[in-house]
This record gives sequence, structure tokens and C-alpha cells, in this order.
Amino acid sequence: MLSLDEAVQRLLAGARGHAITERDEVSTFDALQRVLAQDVRSSLSVPPEDNSEMDGYALRVADVPAEGTVLPISQRIAAGQVGRPLQPGTAARIFTGAQVPLGADAVVMQELCEAIAPVRDGELGGVRLRTVPSAGMAIRRRGEDVQQGAVVLCAGTRMTPQAMGMAASVGAATLQVWRRPRVALFSTGDELAMPGEPLKPGAIYNSNRFTLRGLLQAAGCVTVDLGIVPDRLDATRDALRRAAAEADLVLTCGGVSVGEEDHLKPALQAEGRLDLWSVAIKPGKPLAFGAVRSGGSGEALYIGLPGNPVSSTVTFLLAVMPVLRVLSGTSPHGPRAVPMTAGFDWPRPVKRREFLRARVAADGTLELFPNQGSGVLTSMVWADGLIDNPPAHAIQRGDVVPFLPLPLLLQ
Ligand code: AMP
Ligand code: MG
Repeated sequence: MLSLDEAVQRLLAGARGHAITERDEVSTFDALQRVLAQDVRSSLSVPPEDNSEMDGYALRVADVPAEGTVLPISQRIAAGQVGRPLQPGTAARIFTGAQVPLGADAVVMQELCEAIAPVRDGELGGVRLRTVPSAGMAIRRRGEDVQQGAVVLCAGTRMTPQAMGMAASVGAATLQVWRRPRVALFSTGDELAMPGEPLKPGAIYNSNRFTLRGLLQAAGCVTVDLGIVPDRLDATRDALRRAAAEADLVLTCGGVSVGEEDHLKPALQAEGRLDLWSVAIKPGKPLAFGAVRSGGSGEALYIGLPGNPVSSTVTFLLAVMPVLRVLSGTSPHGPRAVPMTAGFDWPRPVKRREFLRARVAADGTLELFPNQGSGVLTSMVWADGLIDNPPAHAIQRGDVVPFLPLPLLLQ
């Protein structure tokens, strides 16, 4: 049996030459999940000039020697306006986000001031300060977020909502991104029916098709869904050929064991090449890797996942995601475990490295789903993540265990 780490190393070695090299230019509006092909550098400082953090009064600290000082108001500056240089011995009424006038070195928020009404029409009145301000108070400095010329987003970044805002804040209207990986997907199994169809005796609904489509979408891929392929060699070979013609990666689930009804092995041997691995993890175990010829000298990568719903999901997260990161152009990283306290006992561990479905309980410890079977999809819906438990390792309540939150596995 192969360890998971060895399996992932081999997958990555196989995927390395397959990183997407075509770029798209997309509107920053449409960049969610896309991977940057180029650094985003800022041609301006953010904020572009010093501006006020509060609604209040801009003034010179030197003009306010003591609490109770009264200053006349010489101008009013709202956000989007640029005021005149501040006349010494006066204050400017200023609002959040407005540029601080030249000569002012502090803003006092209005909660610490008393407005003095104007005596005559057309005058601006005055302000009594109930504090002695210090220099820089309530001023957001030019460039305190971004310095002109700085790289604000690195090539290889997958665009999050925050990253989209960041790009917009430096004025980037379009972005250079890598083309999304195209992944052809099919499920194998004569027992599989689609939701909406009546369930014949002996049949089950095809849940993996939905889970895997969702996972691929969450990972930023374009899915070419070839549906359900019957358990026959000719049909399997045909599906592989169609898949490879359209995709960078062909992903299948089921049929990768070596039972008489498992046709992927001979089909791949005919249409490309294949390594069949037994990976020492639970759930998971069978995993197939190889390539399918796609006309000319081209080939699509191939990964075959086990059929059991929890196994295929977990194997996708642990073994397919690293490959998708390479194809997508994101910098690869291993699973990032968070140390968490077990709120349960796990006295009879198996000899394989086990990924236990767990969630964070109200007291902050981890609780375990009672049925850890590889077909129990309920456990994956219930769980917040997976505990990465080493082979033959018993867990006692109170032990610190490595926890892999599901959202981190999908990054
Ligand atoms: P296999 O790897 O084809 O031997 O399948 C292993 C188990 O997973 C069997 O119980 C299958 O019925 C089940 N299975 C295979 N494919 C799917 C699927 N797409 N959706 C739900 N269960 C599946
Ligand atoms: Mg099958």
C-alpha cells in the first residue's frame, strides 16, 4: 500500500507538465475564484491623500492648548471635496472620507466637540473642543493601506471577494488570469439512477455526480459532465475518449477496484495508461492515476476515485485538490491542520491513516459523527472537517488532534 503523501507526490509529479498556460483577461467584476496569471501592482497610493476617519473638525494641534478652546469655523469639507489650506487659528468642519486640508494635523471627532451656532446668516459658527488633540488624531494617512508601486495581489492568488475589492481599490478594471481547468466527469455503475427517475429494485441514486460537480465548481473548474457510464468495457472506453477530447483532466468515480464489473483498468490500458494504487487511508483506499490519449501527441490526465460517497469526497479533497491547484496555477500547499481538542474517545483505531468526520461542539471541542462508514454521506454533511488520525493511533478525550476544516481543504 502507498501512503497518502507518496500518492500525492506522484500525482503532483504527473501533473507538473500540465499546468494551464493559456490566459484570459476578465473584468474584475467576473474574477471571483479565478487565479491571477500576473501580479497586481498599484500605480497609486491608497488612500491617495490624508483623509478624515470621522465626522468632526480638522485643525492645528498648536491652536488648541487647553480643553475648552473655541475656534471659528473657516470652511466645510464633505467627502469628495478638496478644501482650501486651513487658515491658522480656525477649524474646518469635516466629514468621514474627506481629504484633510493642507495645514491641519488632527481631526477631533464631533462627539468630543460642541458646535457653536453662527451669529449671522452666511457664517459658519465655531466649535468648542472638549479635548486636547494630538498630532495625527483621526487621520487616515496617505498610503497607509497601499504604497504606490506595491504588489497588492501576487500571481497565483485565487480571487476571493476581498481580493476583488483590493484589485478594485487600486483601480484595476480587468485582470490577467489563467484559463480555468476543464475537468470531464463521469460516474460508472449499472446501479446508478438520476434523481427524478423512479428507483428500480437494486438501484441507488447517483449522489457522487452531484458532490463531485459541486466540488469541481467550488475549486474553480469548468466541468464537462458526461453523466453515467454503464459497467461495460466498450462504453467505458468510449467515455474516456470523449472525455479526453474535451478536458485537461478526466475524473471518474467507481469501478476502480479490480472486480469483474470494474472496467476502468482495462479501458485505460487500452486508451492511455494507468497506475492503480491502494492508498493507506480510510476512507479511500483505491485510487487510479494515469492519462488518456486525446489525439495527436496530447493527453489528458486521469484520476479515478472510489465509488463510495464519503471515500470519493475525501479522496477528492486530499488527492485531487493538490492536482487542481497545479493545473490552476495556484501555489501548491499541503493540508493545513488546526490543532483542536478531542471531546471523545477513539479507542480502536485502524492500521490505516484515518480521516474522521468531526465537528466543533458548543464547548469548542471536537465531536465525532457516530457512524464513520465510507458510504454514510450524512457524516459529510454533518461534519465541519476531518480529523487526520495517524495509523493505529488511539484518541482520548482531551487529546489535541489535527483538524482539517472543510473550507481550507477546498482552497
Ligand atoms: P465501486 O467502486 O464501483 O465498486 O462502488 C463502490 C460503492 O459505491 C458501491 O456501493 C456503489 O454502489 C457506490 N457508488 C458508486 N458510484 C456511486 C455514485 N456515483 N453515487 C453513489 N454511490 C456510488
Ligand atoms: Mg461500480
